[in-house]
Amino acid sequence: MAFDEQTAVECSQEIYEEMADASSKFPPFNSGHEGFAVLKEEVDELWEAVKLNKKRHPERDELMRKECIQVGAMALRFLHDMKLRREP
Ligand SMILES: [Mg+2]
Repeated sequence: MAFDEQTAVECSQEIYEEMADASSKFPPFNSGHEGFAVLKEEVDELWEAVKLNKKRHPERDELMRKECIQVGAMALRFLHDMKLRREP
């Protein structure tokens, strides 16, 4: 399967929208430890979705998609907050 730029742009947009929505509800990460903890929680939720049996859980692909977006959004928020903290 080849890299598809349009698909990557669409995924990036979904991640950005999730991050912007979460940022309207939650304050910035106070520390690297907090950012890591939130990101790990999302990775753990993605792992739980990955482990589902697809025959018994037909919603598995959609769950994985949503959790991937949340992982990306929290990584983006972590990066964003670190960048803001470094700048005056
Ligand atoms: Mg999640």
